[in-house]
Amino acid sequence: MSRLQQTEGLTEEQHELIKLVREFVDEQIIPVATELEHKDEYPTQIVEGMKEMGIFGLMIPEEYGGLGESLLTYALCVEEIARGWMSVSGIINTHFIVAYMILQHGTDEQKQHYLPKMATGEIRGAFSMSEPGCGSDVSAIKTKAVRDGDSDNWTINGQKMWLTNGGSANLVAVLVKTDTGADSVYKNMTTFLIDKTEGFGETAQGVTVPGKIDKMGYKGVDTTELVFEGHRTTSAQILGGEPGKGFYQMMDGVEVGRVNVAARGCGVARRAFELGVSYAQQRETFGKKIAEHQAVLFRLADMAVKVEAAHEMMVKAARKKDSGERNDLEAGMAKYLASEYCSQVVEDSFRIHGGYGYSKEYEIERLYREAPMLLIGEGTADIQRMIIGRRLLEDYKLRG
Ligand SMILES: Cc1cc2nc3c(=O)[nH]c(=O)nc-3n(C[C@H](O)[C@H](O)[C@H](O)COP(=O)(O)OP(=O)(O)OC[C@H]3O[C@@H](n4cnc5c(N)ncnc54)[C@H](O)[C@@H]3O)c2cc1C
Repeated sequence: MSRLQQTEGLTEEQHELIKLVREFVDEQIIPVATELEHKDEYPTQIVEGMKEMGIFGLMIPEEYGGLGESLLTYALCVEEIARGWMSVSGIINTHFIVAYMILQHGTDEQKQHYLPKMATGEIRGAFSMSEPGCGSDVSAIKTKAVRDGDSDNWTINGQKMWLTNGGSANLVAVLVKTDTGADSVYKNMTTFLIDKTEGFGETAQGVTVPGKIDKMGYKGVDTTELVFEGHRTTSAQILGGEPGKGFYQMMDGVEVGRVNVAARGCGVARRAFELGVSYAQQRETFGKKIAEHQAVLFRLADMAVKVEAAHEMMVKAARKKDSGERNDLEAGMAKYLASEYCSQVVEDSFRIHGGYGYSKEYEIERLYREAPMLLIGEGTADIQRMIIGRRLLEDYKLRG
């Protein structure tokens, strides 16, 4: 049991579930993570284990076959999983966002159709906003759905980019432009639910997944492009049934996604600390353990403070959302702080490892390549600062 990242006020059930996940991580993920990551191999066995534990349905209500847990419970499980291997948390993250969006915004038919199968992991979700020409500036997307007259038939053309789980998912929530004549660009966007098969090539009529993008880290989990060439669909596949709401639905999904990325940052940082504090008590220089050199001891202290602070902020953001309040400020702060601190803690642990940190035999080498992803996914650090700053100006607006 770790001294760091303890959470006050959890129920017995929450403690039990998190303990179960922690044991799964220690026994099933950590021993194989680095080898699988180096081979860029999909962790099929780990995913099967997570299905059995009900992880894919963690936040899906019991009436749809899920565990009906809170965002906080989910985030604490993600923290544990990311401590073992960040890519595994990536496998559940997009699934969780899509399930959340369907739960919050889907029609009854969509909930009945998708959620029970998402709870078991039979249907697995990816979500897609980014395109080759834009990521931060979502309003600039070009992929377009055109309606056939007044009918319920639509045709989608365009290219999406950076889909986490783009190959392994069989459902994609995709944001496209739809010219509904609204006065704001944001009201001319729609989320479609695209059913596809797993794998690469033509995975549905007019829907091609060209292949995996080769990345510096975050391996094992597939990240892909998605090409639409005359994909025909219907209004029944619009999330919520009505066009023009897609941007707001996606932003709602990204908001819970940010708590999730913060939780990942916390997990990776804790692992980096554990590796650093362990190595520092083994390696000797100038006649003593390096942990006894004050510079290394201070480094460890700084790392632990960051691990703890990021966790507290992440928990606060999750609890705020669970209470039904708007949490964009807290989620932005948590994501920004946890990802920046994660990078710094990983870098510190890497330095403590000396030359061995540069060797692929040591786990910290993998963490060093994984941490930067958290500075980018679900909105870059600068975009978080923009959100935080603007929100604060709303709250601290000068009167009169
Ligand atoms: C491994 C990986 C997985 C991903 N998975 C997904 C996924 O599943 N689904 C999905 O839709 N997307 C996904 N993304 C895409 C990700 O969300 C985008 O990369 C991210 O939003 C940044 O967009 P961009 O890459 O286009 O950078 P840009 O938007 O081009 O930004 C470039 C730089 O400019 C800065 N910048 C941009 N605008 C501003 C501004 N207004 N003020 C200040 N600075 C600014 C940014 O902070 C950044 O430093 C993934 C990306 C990666 C790397």
